[in-house]
Amino acid sequence: MSERITIIVGDITRQKVDAIVNAANSSLLGGGGVDGAIHRAAGPELLSECKALGGCKTGDAKLTKGYNLPAKWVIHTVGPVWKGGDSGEDELLARCYQRSLELAQEHAIKTIAFPSISTGAYRFPVERASRIAIGRIKRFLAQNKTIEKVIIVCFGKEVYGCYIKAMEEV
Ligand code: ADP
Repeated sequence: MSERITIIVGDITRQKVDAIVNAANSSLLGGGGVDGAIHRAAGPELLSECKALGGCKTGDAKLTKGYNLPAKWVIHTVGPVWKGGDSGEDELLARCYQRSLELAQEHAIKTIAFPSISTGAYRFPVERASRIAIGRIKRFLAQNKTIEKVIIVCFGKEVYGCYIKAMEEV
């Protein structure tokens, strides 16, 4: 199952996959970081569709079209803001991956790219986040036969190193 997971350094907006995952905020109305990059690349129709969704709870995910992106779909998920680790952050982050993969399964998505959710503006420690991400993705793929490829797109070498290590250890 590990051969279905690929870790790369890159820009998620350039990925030619069925779906890319957006680390959104709960308004779903756009923001900085990867969210801003996805909205810029997808074009204004993405924001129009997001406005009709009525936001998204932390740990949940919602699906839209990809518009001008190479990806057909965008799965918007809302990661937890890091508050020190005792506020349910680990479980909420795991649920982001779980719900995104469930949506992918429901929509017969075969290839999906994730960013490193919550580890930018939301300040979740990346080493801890990478272990949660890899753990949940591996667990999901073990009982799923339809998703062929999960790509984790790291924005920089440091993040990449953490996910590679987690891939070996978790
Ligand atoms: P969050 O609010 O969930 O922390 P951020 O967008 O601030 O989301 O950061 C999440 C991760 O996405 C960080 O590692 C950040 O460097 C990375 N990132 C930013 N832009 C891109 C991009 N175009 N492609 C992939 N990852 C990106």
